[in-house]
Parts: sequence; C-alpha cells; structure tokens
Amino acid sequence: VRLAILPDWWEDSLADVPANRALVEGRVSKHLDVPIRVLRDPDQPISIALPNQPRFKHSQGTSPEDLQATALIACRTAAIAERYVQHLPPFQEIRSVAEVRGEIVSRGEQINLDSLLQFCWRNGILVLYLRNLPKRSKKFDAMAMFCGKTPVIVLASGKDGPPWLAFHLAHELAHVMVGHVREGGEPITDTDLRQDDKEADEQAANRYAKELLEGPTPPVVPRVYGTTGEKLASHAMRAANVDPGSFIMAFAYNAQGQGTNRWGVAQAALKYLGLDSGGQEKVAALVREHLVHDKMPEPSARFIEGVLSSNG
Ligand SMILES: [Zn+2]
Repeated sequence: VRLAILPDWWEDSLADVPANRALVEGRVSKHLDVPIRVLRDPDQPISIALPNQPRFKHSQGTSPEDLQATALIACRTAAIAERYVQHLPPFQEIRSVAEVRGEIVSRGEQINLDSLLQFCWRNGILVLYLRNLPKRSKKFDAMAMFCGKTPVIVLASGKDGPPWLAFHLAHELAHVMVGHVREGGEPITDTDLRQDDKEADEQAANRYAKELLEGPTPPVVPRVYGTTGEKLASHAMRAANVDPGSFIMAFAYNAQGQGTNRWGVAQAALKYLGLDSGGQEKVAALVREHLVHDKMPEPSARFIEGVLSSNG
C-alpha cells in the first residue's frame, strides 16, 4: 500500500475536483488524525495537530505550508515512536563533538552514515528520509526539530550517496547538539547545505559537522587540480582515521573554499568506490528496525509504512 499522503494532498489538480478533494481529505484525516474541518479551512494552519506547534526560523525559498507538512509527518512519527517503541531511549543531553566522536570511535567504528545513524537512534534522536514532499514545494536538504521531548532529523535532499547524507546528518545533528533547536523551540530548515551560509548558527553547525566527520585535524586532501575520480578514490582509500567518503567530500569542499567547483571529480570518486547510492535505504532500514513492530495499532503501522514508502 502506497499512502503517499503528501503529494496527493498538495496536488492542485486533485484538489480542484471536489470529489477527489473530499477523498484525499478523508484519507489524510484518517491517517494523520487531523480533523477534517482543519483540512478544509484554508486559514487553519495544519500545525494545529502537531505535538508542539512549530514556527519556522529559516524558510528560505520554501513556503511555511510545505515545511509544516514535513514537520507534521516528522512529529507524527515521533509521537508514534514515543507511544509504542519501548526500547527507544529518551534523548538525554547535548554533547560536544569530541564526545560524539569518542562514543562512535570507542566502538571501533569510523564516522560515516552507518555509525552516525546508529548513534542517533542509540541516543533517542529520530532520523527520517522523506523524498515525496509536496509537489509544488521547493526542495530543501534537511530539517532539525524537537517534537515534544524527541529530537527529529529529516533528510530530504534527493541525494543517495551515503557520504552526502552523512554530511547532511552531521550538520543537523550539530543543530541538535549545539542547542540550536530545543524542546518547545523552532525547527531549523536547511535549503542548500552545499552553499556556504554566513549566519552564525550555520557556520557553527558546519564546523561541528566537519570536525565530527573529519576529526580534529582535517585530512590532507589532493590539490584542487590534477586529480581524477580514480586517483581521488585511491587517495581516499589510503587515508588514515577518516572514512573514504568523508575524505572525498573534504576534497570537494576544500576546492569550493578556493572558489573552484570540483564536485564532478568527487562524484566520480564516490561512484568508483560504490559510495554514490544506497544512503536513503540505510536511513529507512533503521526506521523499519526501530519502529515497525507487531503491537502497533493498524493506523500507526500504516502511517509508518507511508513514511517508509516515501523512500522509493
Ligand atoms: Zn543548518
């Protein structure tokens, strides 16, 4: 069953036909527990159904409705997790980049998408991947927010390479760990994480993410010019104490910092190492592992299924 709640809901052509509109409203209402009168009243913000009503700090290029729809899904998932998932630990405290790195490294793991996802779930931070956002919606890369007491990170970039999603996740994890998002506070939406954002919180999150992924001493990457995807891949495989994917990303960011676009070479290197796909499925696999279980009531189980199917 493919619920695809959001795209149907926001599709103009569908909503223009009254019968369709009623059908979609009924379906959304049923699955999201939103009263139909709320959906029908265009002046009524959908966020009325959220556990805590988020306001939006950064809405660069995206409409508040699009972001609210995403927050609705995220917070509904968090509410289901809080109610039905026994073994999900509550989120405890914000931690320094050294502490987060220390916990992962002490388990004998490198810092990459797999270990960061495991860290988040181990520490009560939900991570979702949602691709099927409202059709009219401007794309954004990621969001971080608190739904009640639970931090939730939504990845939404369309990227599937694990090192890309690791970078986005590390940045959002920074917003949580530095305390940029707090219980009862505003969500943060990042439209384009590849662009350098001058705002203080964004610079701080980027520094945290870079150190988390690369370590306190950044790896020595090849010079901007004169390398190929294959050479870069082979450098990355020989690099000590840093995940090959993060090494490749570090190369491209270093080039970007010098005003040069070398993302094509980086992408070729990722592909050479088989690191250009499979990231979205890694995120979904952990959602499935933690949230899908027998005792969950049918509507909640179908909602989670809808969230998961938005991956494919
Ligand atoms: Zn940010």
